[in-house]
Amino acid sequence: MAPMLRLYNTLTRQRAPFVPIDPSHVRMYACGPTVYDAAHIGNARPIIVFDLLFRLLRHLYGDAHVTYARNVTDVDDKINARAAERGITIRELTDGTLAAFHTDIRALGVLMPDDVNLAGARPRFVEPRATDHIAEMITIIEGLVQAGHAYVADGHVLFDVPSMPEYGGLSKRPLDEMEAGARVEVAPYKRSQLDFVLWKPAKPGEPSWPSPSGIAEPGRPGWHIECSAMSWKHLGRTFDIHAGGIDLIFPHHENEVAQSRCCFGTDVMANVWLHNGFLQVEGEKMSKSVGNFITIRDVLKDWPGEVARLAMLKTHYRQPIDWTLRGLEEAARTLDRWYGIVGDVAADAAIPASVLEPLTDDLNTASALAELHRLADPAALKAGANLMGFLDQTKSARDQGTIRAAGVDVATVEALIEARRAARGAKDWAASDRVRDELLAMGVTVKDGKDGTTWSVAP
Ligand code: AMP
Ligand code: ZN
Repeated sequence: MAPMLRLYNTLTRQRAPFVPIDPSHVRMYACGPTVYDAAHIGNARPIIVFDLLFRLLRHLYGDAHVTYARNVTDVDDKINARAAERGITIRELTDGTLAAFHTDIRALGVLMPDDVNLAGARPRFVEPRATDHIAEMITIIEGLVQAGHAYVADGHVLFDVPSMPEYGGLSKRPLDEMEAGARVEVAPYKRSQLDFVLWKPAKPGEPSWPSPSGIAEPGRPGWHIECSAMSWKHLGRTFDIHAGGIDLIFPHHENEVAQSRCCFGTDVMANVWLHNGFLQVEGEKMSKSVGNFITIRDVLKDWPGEVARLAMLKTHYRQPIDWTLRGLEEAARTLDRWYGIVGDVAADAAIPASVLEPLTDDLNTASALAELHRLADPAALKAGANLMGFLDQTKSARDQGTIRAAGVDVATVEALIEARRAARGAKDWAASDRVRDELLAMGVTVKDGKDGTTWSVAP
């Protein structure tokens, strides 16, 4: 029997066995990127971590029994401003940034909807966009107003926080404490300082949609409402797992919970809440002003995506991670070693229990990777690594890719290897060394073994 999955739940602050609402349909939602610009390496962390969880759930419950929704925020202030600056629509802007994001994360070994969805079957992976779910947002907003949890004021619809006594349950900020600590200056249309925006007026020139009933002017959604709408549409009123970065616990996730629970009259929005820790760079907070802001694209210029994925998964997802050159170099060495072991072996072995078990213990990737490191059997290593999204290609295919990426011409290399062999045959060591240096200058390393000479290009 497969081991029991245990997950640390932000809602209970405890690690507990994961019990799906319906084991024949496990449902998971992750808050995805705001696509206004190139994604940074910190944004890659939740994408990679929750991709691993998706893979693990598919393994434990079966590919047909897991649905993953990872949304795309394609309307917000930054998107509106950037599109206006360029004189294009927000759709044109976000289509472009989303396509670039897809290229980036595919290189990081992240499963994509196309990899797992089958024609004619329930989608297993959906990537809903906020602007495609305005109707669902309006339905929830109007439901909240009707239920007395939201009110219309001055072209806005606001969530009435004091109307929900359990507000603050996820972030463990009791409502009465928040009320006591609230500042005095309140936007004039808010009844309570804690109330948050569900819908707001659009400024001139901003994209806008017909507003919920009671507001004549067109407007646009607040941020939090989109995830209540998209998770409802694709996963239902209550679902199993909701994930995102730790910065989202408050206010984003707290507000999502308030909206969904008060609209649908449910006890929970999602049973299990997972949050990844933050990424910093060489010991410092990543920021444009410090000059250590690294996009995924920057990393991929220097390193294969698989190396970046390994560097990311070496740290447990809830810990902060320090993104360093040393970590990447170490990951590159590990992958070279693994490819050396697996060679071109087929991926048909069972996943070793020694690798699966730590993963089911709240995604203990550090320990799972250490177990992979202990495996000497090529087929077992390949199977264990595949589960984590590594070693998807054969060694030969990887070498070919490396050679192509390095721009090395195979015919030239082979002619030089042949010339070196002739020089060595004639015991002309000086000529042989010259050829070897020429190859080295091209990034090609030559190795003489008992089965002849082999060559490789450093990835
Ligand atoms: P954003 O596009 O800023 O909404 O962020 C998209 C996702 O990336 C969210 O789940 C954030 O929590 C996460 N995120 C943003 N910055 C970092 C970081 N430095 N480290 C880890 N996760 C991050
Ligand atoms: Zn969200």
